[in-house]
Amino acid sequence: MIIFDEFRVKTPERQVLIDVTHEIDQRVRAYNVKEGVCRVYIPHTTAGITINENADPSVIKDISNYLSKLIPKGGGLGYSFKHGEGNSDAHIKCSLTGHSIDVLIHENRLMLGTWQGILLTEYDGPRNRRVYIQIQGE
Ligand code: ZN
Repeated sequence: MIIFDEFRVKTPERQVLIDVTHEIDQRVRAYNVKEGVCRVYIPHTTAGITINENADPSVIKDISNYLSKLIPKGGGLGYSFKHGEGNSDAHIKCSLTGHSIDVLIHENRLMLGTWQGILLTEYDGPRNRRVYIQIQGE
């Protein structure tokens, strides 16, 4: 079977990584899919999704802060952004960290590692973001 679902996340700041593991895990359990794959897709150009550590909150801060050092809002490396909206940094960060992830489902559970969580990556908030989920399996 193939199941589609979606939910929304209100992001509170311009740049923030938000743990959405629980929202996705509870859907996988509710649909009672025993074996399969869960794909999470973000239909935005300045927000995306990634998997990384959610146990120590310092990791999320380090990722976010380091990306901001690497790609300052006003540009850097002698290059000035051409995009008139003033959010080119957000577009670039979003492409670097990605728009979709796949997680295996086994025995009705997301097969995330002990330290892994699913993180919505917001780079141009605060906004109301959509999270699309497709579950394939049986
Ligand atoms: Zn833009």
